[in-house]
Amino acid sequence: MSYVKGLKCRECGRTYPKTPQFVCEWCFGPLEVVYDYEEIKKNFTRKALENRAPNM
Ligand SMILES: [Zn+2]
Repeated sequence: MSYVKGLKCRECGRTYPKTPQFVCEWCFGPLEVVYDYEEIKKNFTRKALENRAPNM
């Protein structure tokens, strides 16, 4: 999975590089995964066009 950009704290918005960590060091808020949406779009749009019309 190379689509993961890093992690982002839901509470303070601080971002982290890809790391096996689930809690923010600063506020102990939950970290959520940030995906590289540009990269996902690039790869999936082509496939979606081949199979079906993208519904976005
Ligand atoms: Zn935080």
